Amino acid sequence: MQQDAHDVEALYVGGEWVAPSSPQRIDVENPATEKVIGRVPAGQAADIDRAVAAAKAAFPQWSALSRSERADHLAALHAGLTARRDEMAATITAEMGAPAGLAASIQVGLPLRVLDSYVQMLRQEEEPRRVGNSLVVTEPVGVVGAITPWNYPLNQTMAKLAAALAAGCTVVHKPSEIAPLSAFLLARIAHDAGLPAGVYNVVSGDGPSAGEPLVRHDDVDMISFTGSTRAGRRVGALAADTVKRVALELGGKSANVILPDADLTAAVKVGVANCLLNAGQTCTAWTRMLVPADRQDEALEIAVAAAAKYVPGDPTDPKTRLGPLVSKAQRDRVLEYIELGVASGARLVLDGRQGVPPVGYYVGPTIFADVDPDSRIAQEEIFGPVLSVIPYRDEDEAVRIANGTPYGLAGAVWSSDVEHALAVARRLRTGQVDINGAPFNHLAPFGGYRRSGVGREFGEHGYLEFCQVKAIQLPPAFLEPGQTASAEG
Ligand code: NAD
Repeated sequence: MQQDAHDVEALYVGGEWVAPSSPQRIDVENPATEKVIGRVPAGQAADIDRAVAAAKAAFPQWSALSRSERADHLAALHAGLTARRDEMAATITAEMGAPAGLAASIQVGLPLRVLDSYVQMLRQEEEPRRVGNSLVVTEPVGVVGAITPWNYPLNQTMAKLAAALAAGCTVVHKPSEIAPLSAFLLARIAHDAGLPAGVYNVVSGDGPSAGEPLVRHDDVDMISFTGSTRAGRRVGALAADTVKRVALELGGKSANVILPDADLTAAVKVGVANCLLNAGQTCTAWTRMLVPADRQDEALEIAVAAAAKYVPGDPTDPKTRLGPLVSKAQRDRVLEYIELGVASGARLVLDGRQGVPPVGYYVGPTIFADVDPDSRIAQEEIFGPVLSVIPYRDEDEAVRIANGTPYGLAGAVWSSDVEHALAVARRLRTGQVDINGAPFNHLAPFGGYRRSGVGREFGEHGYLEFCQVKAIQLPPAFLEPGQTASAEG
């Protein structure tokens, strides 16, 4: 079955394009034009069954390949994606509105680096580990169900796919129904790169009809989910029935803690850029800016000037820094939060409802000051270009506010004394903290505390999520002199 880039009639299962079980389709809308640009199958439980069977059948051979053979396959996938990176970036811009520059650099550039990092990891031999009289080995966990969101559709996919395939797992991927086109393009690239049949399977569909059957499936050994805390909670509960492993990468409400001795201009400018990245639709976005109370006005002046550079506009224009939100529903949700902020008594110093293009789901940069840390705009993930500036009196209060939401994904600390910043960073209950704008590291573990999730992605930690650990006790004849044959001795 031939697949047009934006009109997808078939699912990718067992290395073939197969007809879906239901004629139902899901429209994909370009949020900048409000036009339907494609359709994908609305996958059902029967489609998931077929894809899981294909992944299960492919597992013995794929997992038995040597590390260097798997590295060769991932390198071929990397070459295929590199050759079509412009097409991939344009597809992501069309399906979810990321500005072209960001689509090229982060939406596609980062997953390429992540994929390459696993090629390099597999090229190195794994050292066998010994614990007393035991040999400790890692093995692939098995068939993985990967469920991904729309905000960084390829990056969130690659974080799972590259690590899972490197570990020797096979994958059934259920992409977001809102931005599924990039996943089908990835499947075409994987197919052309010669990835063995059944190793990567793509079934589009919504959460209840396609996601839930994948989570419930008895032959799925692990679910790796990225999305909202609401859906992640449901996924965790459903997965418990079959006692499968679950990794959850969920929402956030991260704090940018600017200490009194920080370079305020740099801290505020970088903080605004971080909050507005991808129109605020980034799980790690520093959406709460914590500033010393006596410097709030100064910080606001810098913040408003920095935000003015983010003029909402056509995401295909290379100069655009702020594209539309992903959908009408998301735009309406963000507008509702702006109203909630005003009603809570926070001071609206920049109103993103003004001056937006008439067509497309745009909201401009929005800044609230004097935000009550317990108010809803300071507690809930808005997922839009809305910054809450929160004044604090002393460092203990700043740390208390930073840790005072149900989330724990990311954060930042700024100080002219790096040792001091490090001490504050250690007090933040989050999976990552950036000091003085230090760059993102795709080899470091990435994941959340509390309602931001369970498990880690990227680098070696991400790889180990897809591994089982086995202890093999060796008999005395194999032991080195002085070692005993059992723990009891
Ligand atoms: P979402 O939870 O609505 O959907 C995510 C995926 O889950 C989609 O594929 C969806 O179809 C599926 N899904 C929904 N309900 C399901 C169910 N009951 N069973 C199985 N699957 C189900 O999230 P979204 O709106 O696509 O993405 C935005 C959210 O993702 C934000 O909360 C953001 O913070 C989070 N996110 C987190 C990270 C991270 O690494 N921590 C990264 C990116 C996005």
